[in-house]
Amino acid sequence: MTEDTSTPEVRDVIIVGSGPAGYTAAIYAARANLRPVVFAGSITAGGALMNTTEVENFPGFEHGILGPELMEQMQKQAQRFGAEVRYEDVVSVDLTGEIKTVTTDDDETFAARAVILANGSAYRKLGLAEEERFSGRGVSWCATCDGFFFRDQHLVVVGGGDSAMEEATFLTRFASKVTVVHRRDSLRASKIMADRAMSNEKIEFAWNSEIATINGDNKVSSVTLRDTVTGETRELDATGVFVAIGHDPRTEILAGQVDLDHEGYIKVASPSTATNVTGVFAAGDAVDHTYRQAITAAGTGCAAALDAERYLAALG
Ligand code: FAD
Repeated sequence: MTEDTSTPEVRDVIIVGSGPAGYTAAIYAARANLRPVVFAGSITAGGALMNTTEVENFPGFEHGILGPELMEQMQKQAQRFGAEVRYEDVVSVDLTGEIKTVTTDDDETFAARAVILANGSAYRKLGLAEEERFSGRGVSWCATCDGFFFRDQHLVVVGGGDSAMEEATFLTRFASKVTVVHRRDSLRASKIMADRAMSNEKIEFAWNSEIATINGDNKVSSVTLRDTVTGETRELDATGVFVAIGHDPRTEILAGQVDLDHEGYIKVASPSTATNVTGVFAAGDAVDHTYRQAITAAGTGCAAALDAERYLAALG
C-alpha cells in the first residue's frame, strides 16, 4: 500500500460559515477572483435564518422574504461568481502558519493563504419539546426580528439578564402586555435595565417561575408556568414566547487558534475584521455581541472579504 503524500491545493480564501456573513464574504471574494471555498456545515447550512419564516428588515425586499429563500439567493449569488460551497463541518483548524488548513468531518484537509471565520452563534434554548415545533409560530429568539408580528398581544419573555430586559422593553412597543418569566426572585440584569423594565407599566414579572410547557395547536396560545420553589403550575394565556437566555458563539474549534473573549466570541481589531492571527479574519454573530442582525452580519462579511483581498494583494 502506498502512503498518500499528496498535499492539498493551496487556495486563496477559505470561508467557514454559511450565514449572511459567510455568503456575503463569498460573494465579494469570488467577484475579486479569489476562488473561495465556503464550508457551509452539514445540518445547519444557511445559518440562523433557516429557522425563521418572514424576514422583513433585510433591505431590498419590499414585502419581506422567507429566511430560507434569502439564504438560498445569497448562496446562488456567491456560486454564480465561482464560490465553491461544501456541505461539510469544519472540525479542526490550523491557522497559525502562513498556509492555513481546515479539516472537515470527512477527514479531508483544505489549505488557503487566508481564512474568514463566520461561524455564527446559536441561541440558547429552553430545552422543551414544543420549542422547535412552535419556532416561527409564536416562539422566537429575537424581538427586533419578530416583535412586529405580535401587535396588541400578550407576550412572554423568558430570562432575567440585560437582553431579557431589553427584549421585554422593546416588545412593549407592540404588545398589549409582556410577562417576564424568571427562575429566581431577583434579576441578573444591570440596575438601569432592570429599573427601566420594572417601571414600564406594560411589563409584569412572574418570579420564581419557569415554562413547563408551551401550548397551542398550530400556534402558541398559552404557556404553563411551574413555580421553581413550590412546584405548583398555572396556565398563562400568551401568543408569543421570546426566549432571551443568551447565545453561544460556535467557536469551540477555534479555541487556542485565535483570540476569543471570555464568552467565546472572536476578538477582532475593530473597525477591521482582522483577528490576532495574520491572514485570519472574522465576521458576523461569532464576533458581534451587540447588533446580531442579518444585515450587520452581511456588512462585516463584506468587510472581511475586502480585508482578506487587501492582505492577499500585499502578499503578492
Ligand atoms: P449564522 O447565520 O449563524 O450562520 C453560521 C453558519 O455557519 C451555521 O449555521 C453553520 O451552518 C455554519 N458553520 C458554523 N460553524 C461551522 C463549522 N465549524 N463548519 C462548517 N460550517 C459552520 N436577523 C435579521 O436581520 N432579521 C430577522 O428577521 C431575523 N430573524 C431571526 C430569527 C431567528 C429564529 C433567529 C435565530 C435569528 C434571526 N435573526 C434575524 C438574526 C440573524 O439570523 C443572525 O444575526 C445572522 O444569521 C448571523 O449571521 P452569521 O452569518 O454571522 O451566522
